[in-house]
Amino acid sequence: MRTVVTGAAGFLGSHLCDYLLDRGHTVIGLDNFLTGSMKNIEHLNDNDSFQLIKHDVTEYIDIEGPVDAVLHFASPASPVDYLEYPIQTLKVGALGTHKALGLAKEKGGRFLLASSSEVYGDPLVHPQKEDYWGNVNPIGPRGVYDEAKRYAEAMAFAYRRAHIVDAKVARIFNTYGPRMRSGDGRVVPNFIMQALTGKPLTVYGDGMQTRSFCYVGDLVEGIFRLLMSDVDEPVNIGNPYEMTIIDFARKILDLTRSSSDIIFEDLPVDDPKVRQPDIGRARRFLDWEPRVSLEDGLKAAIEFFKSTIR
Ligand code: UDP
Repeated sequence: MRTVVTGAAGFLGSHLCDYLLDRGHTVIGLDNFLTGSMKNIEHLNDNDSFQLIKHDVTEYIDIEGPVDAVLHFASPASPVDYLEYPIQTLKVGALGTHKALGLAKEKGGRFLLASSSEVYGDPLVHPQKEDYWGNVNPIGPRGVYDEAKRYAEAMAFAYRRAHIVDAKVARIFNTYGPRMRSGDGRVVPNFIMQALTGKPLTVYGDGMQTRSFCYVGDLVEGIFRLLMSDVDEPVNIGNPYEMTIIDFARKILDLTRSSSDIIFEDLPVDDPKVRQPDIGRARRFLDWEPRVSLEDGLKAAIEFFKSTIR
């Protein structure tokens, strides 16, 4: 297959490129390097099956030759990033999704949207099933990402109905692993870097909010299965193992053998109080569930972050 990945130099995009190349795909990666990094893909420099094009996917995407699949992963993805780049976040979810879908339509390829658990907002239903419509504040600071992803889903389904594009929607829950940017502001890089450098771990709010963390290797496997499937509904891809942020902080201290303190800071506006994917659909239709334990995944992530400070 000849596959286009937008956001190829990002955390998820780069792992996805590796996965597809391992399975014999020819991969064309697009990135404008707003939050992506060349470092994430430099190991692919000499790979003849990989081509990188520096391009902002909110502009028309022009690819020569056949394309069998388009995976749209371009977007700032951490709350800190989308607060810094609110307009770019809205544009890549809206205009970028439109261009990526247009490419899939033009080439007759399948399409997969990297959507997000953020479409559920601060959820009133727990755990979150795909048929839950969500609880999103459209004008809050997170609204730029949440609404961009909701619009992107609407666009994907419009192309499904109007243009018969085989568009899939993956709702990705918190994912972690090597190649996360150490300064991206998310809880995994923050806590690990703080623990490794002897700084206090910054727990926001009282730390009783919950998240469920999926290892990146499991995630890309789920994405690929969804891409190749006949499923025509959104599918949650994430790890249902839920924990409070305060327990997560303790876990990081334990695994890094750090003696850092834990301090409490203000909870960001509209920070979801709970989050856990119901992955019944992925289990049923994709025969997929996460395999990597939190401990093993975090050990790999910790090794990666250690290597960035050496
Ligand atoms: N969080 C925290 N300390 C940090 C960074 C994040 O307590 O240094 C909390 C944040 O408020 C949220 C959770 O950890 O409740 C996960 O945050 P993240 O930014 O990773 O992504 P989110 O799940 O909110 O999209």
